[in-house]
Amino acid sequence: MHAGNDIEVGLWRRSGLRIGNPRLQDGLVERIAPGAMPAEILNDYEFREEKVRCGICHNRQRHYWGFTVQMSDGSKVLCGNCCIEKLFGSDVWQGLLRSLRGRRREATLRDLVEPMRAIVEACRRAAGLWIGPAKAFVDMIDFLDDEAPDILVALRNRCDREEGRLTDLDGKVFHVVRGCAALAESPHKLLKQAGDLLREAGILVDDERRDLERLAAIRGELRQIMPRAASLMIEAYQFLDRENLRAIARWASGMVKSRDRHSVITDDGEFVYAIETQRMVMPIPTWPMAVAMPDVGKVTDIFTR
Ligand SMILES: [Zn+2]
Repeated sequence: MHAGNDIEVGLWRRSGLRIGNPRLQDGLVERIAPGAMPAEILNDYEFREEKVRCGICHNRQRHYWGFTVQMSDGSKVLCGNCCIEKLFGSDVWQGLLRSLRGRRREATLRDLVEPMRAIVEACRRAAGLWIGPAKAFVDMIDFLDDEAPDILVALRNRCDREEGRLTDLDGKVFHVVRGCAALAESPHKLLKQAGDLLREAGILVDDERRDLERLAAIRGELRQIMPRAASLMIEAYQFLDRENLRAIARWASGMVKSRDRHSVITDDGEFVYAIETQRMVMPIPTWPMAVAMPDVGKVTDIFTR
């Protein structure tokens, strides 16, 4: 009998197809009635604490491993792992095992594969909404990195050390940068990771000989990544907020002006960074925030349904 890997055993236990102490079940008979045939294996047990007496064979052998069997007269009996085949023959035994395997397959589909299909779909929907804004955030950071690396470095340092407090030349705080966490960890990178996992999971759920351990592992990884990505997306939105960008621009303007090299100007709807006479303009990305704004609680719920 297939002993099952950890994932399978977990699923069987949840469905009552694998049990611990078999004697805790109601309605067990000590011995089968004469003429009764085994009709169905209800579950198998692994009980390491104590050997359990068999109700089928004559000498009532004791076993750590065995089955709960429904008999043709409706009675329920415990039996050892090898006794049915010995007493009733290989055909009967194989038929019972086929039926048990079928029910285990159904339990696996019902409890792991189908929920995983729903998880993959829900995660894809969410990631699909976020990927555009996440890319816009990456573009903004790349732009700063190319055109104003000193400002990006200063901004990152402030976020790391001072929780994003921007101070003027007199040391007075005039803005606290929103969305600092997205500067430290990219939501876009996380979404790409999630995308790879979702593609793999999409293939696994449709594969008849699916790798359940891998599927369960992916589920665990997505359960970590998706809520984290959701919370970083919120940070990225906060960073991209116009008032936030304007405040950063004003701060950067003051900072670089003091060195009389660069100047940063803000226009309506634009984050403008000018170096000497060269003026570079980057539009502030606009997104339908209400549609795509993640809800971390809802994203976590995807995995608990
Ligand atoms: Zn026996």
